[in-house]
Amino acid sequence: MISLSLLQATLESTADGILVVNTEGSITSYNQKFRKMWKIPNNILANKEDEKAVSYVLKNLKNPKLFIEGLKILYSNPKSDCFDEIELKDGRIFERYSIPQKMGRKIIGRVFSFRDVTERKSMEQQLLYQATHDSLTGLPNRSLLYDRITENIKAAKRHHFMMAIALFDLNRFKGVNDSLGHDAGDMLLQMVAKRMSDIIRETDTLARLGGDEFVLVIPDLASQNEVIPIIERCLSIFNQPFTIHQHKISTSASMGISMFPEHGNTAQTLLKYADSAMYYAKSGGHKGYQFYGSYMTHKAMEELALENDLYRAIQHDQFSLFYQPIFDLKSGFLRGAEALLRWIHPAKGIITPDKFIPLAEETGLILPIGSWVLKTVGSQIKEWQNLGLPSIFIAVNVSVWQLKEANFVDEIEEIISSHQIDPSSLEIEITETGLMSNAELFLNILEWLRNKGLSLVIDDFGTGYSNLNYLNMLPVNKLKIDQSFIQDESKKGRNIALSILALAKKLKLKVVGEGVETEAQLQFLLKNQCDEAQGYYFSKPIDRIAFMTYMKENRILTDICSHHNKIIPYDMKKGG
Ligand code: C2E
Ligand code: CA
Ligand code: CA
Repeated sequence: MISLSLLQATLESTADGILVVNTEGSITSYNQKFRKMWKIPNNILANKEDEKAVSYVLKNLKNPKLFIEGLKILYSNPKSDCFDEIELKDGRIFERYSIPQKMGRKIIGRVFSFRDVTERKSMEQQLLYQATHDSLTGLPNRSLLYDRITENIKAAKRHHFMMAIALFDLNRFKGVNDSLGHDAGDMLLQMVAKRMSDIIRETDTLARLGGDEFVLVIPDLASQNEVIPIIERCLSIFNQPFTIHQHKISTSASMGISMFPEHGNTAQTLLKYADSAMYYAKSGGHKGYQFYGSYMTHKAMEELALENDLYRAIQHDQFSLFYQPIFDLKSGFLRGAEALLRWIHPAKGIITPDKFIPLAEETGLILPIGSWVLKTVGSQIKEWQNLGLPSIFIAVNVSVWQLKEANFVDEIEEIISSHQIDPSSLEIEITETGLMSNAELFLNILEWLRNKGLSLVIDDFGTGYSNLNYLNMLPVNKLKIDQSFIQDESKKGRNIALSILALAKKLKLKVVGEGVETEAQLQFLLKNQCDEAQGYYFSKPIDRIAFMTYMKENRILTDICSHHNKIIPYDMKKGG
């Protein structure tokens, strides 16, 4: 038989609060830890005032009713064990373990042990929060989003409701990151999250997928029409600019929406379709949002297939360059050609660049493709030079992604020196939009090119917004009037073309008119002293063999115009 003092010492040495009661429910034993945990005054327990002790316990509890009911069950099943958690009013959480107290086979009472697990619980909760929330915005993350969508689908099925999944990202977010830094980008994301959280309903879920992509889950809808006002209200948060480090940033969002049950019944499908719809909202939308339609997936699949093919196109040598003649309008001679890329697809035939250059830029494939174009043009110039054909320039279209690459200068250097070509036979065409968006960044590289002897042409001039300061500062040689202004023979179109010509004269830049299709368009350029012209009226882009014949024939404008049965005002004699 253990002595009473030893028993007490054992009780006191455990970290748990221990309470022992007899079958009548009267306290027979307890330790100090128990007393402290439940904040019961010493004398109450020492005097075995059971009822008072119980009232202290109940006072501490968040849900005393539940506790009493639990106790009743325990006392009516004296043999049973129990293990559960108890929440206290002050936020603490106790684990309760209870087993019958036996003497031999006879049950003589019940032992309760209580363990304070508040800290462990809060750590668990914190971990759970971190695993399910985005640390930047505090919004639910992808994994919680999937759970929420799945839960909402179940509820929607039960109540025959619809649900909308709206996926959106910010337009030109990359621009904010690039120009103001990642801190500013992060702040913008936080502000967007805050503004949107403030206007959505409590039952809606706003989650961040990552980057600048967010998802809004809108449950409990009776019809698709109910979504539109909600979406428009959400998008209205972009009407006011966001102030970050004293900068006022205006941004907008593109939103794609899929509906349960119409478009799918899993989180994965609904998100995939919302994503396809967002892509459409981006490309076509002024209203900023787009509902999913089944034709979208088809297009997305096609695009994916094209992307795969494009990867292979480089290895399998499926690219080819076509050349389109450019004429000098003063002398009438062939002055040069623009190299235009063609993709000879094994199944689809010739694919023009507007179908794959944007994709190549998006995927980064523009870099190897652009290098291939430059190398090919280099060796082409050399070949024609060796054959003694008239010396002309070749204009190459260069993407801004190439200019941003550190080794672009080396590439040009290598092409010029390995083929020993005259640098002035190479013109670099950069679109106005691309150039102006990064003008200062490109200043050094453009100066290097110009010092090297290459010509720089601003392509599609008139379609972007040229900053006149930049135009003055950048070492540019030529403006290429966009074909839309050449072909637009209305007063407005003519005025634009005329102002570009006047501007170029002021800045001492040459001008080339592109997309000349008719005699009248050519006459307009001739009359207004445009320097060069290019277009279907003279020739479509043709392959290298055809272009070689073209050069050998030594065609001049008068030939071409008499072929079109037209007279041109210059006295142009066929010359060498
Ligand atoms: P771009 O540089 O503005 O090229 C002129 C486009 O106008 C060419 O289309 C040409 O075939 C077409 N064109 C020429 N004359 C006429 C005409 O009289 N009427 C009409 N309707 N069109 C005419 P293409 O070859 O389809 O090239 C489209 C665009 O693809 C080019 O526009 C250029 O931005 C890009 N591109 C072409 N080759 C390359 C390349 O090697 N690298 C890069 N980065 N882009 C390229
Ligand atoms: Ca061009
Ligand atoms: Ca152009």
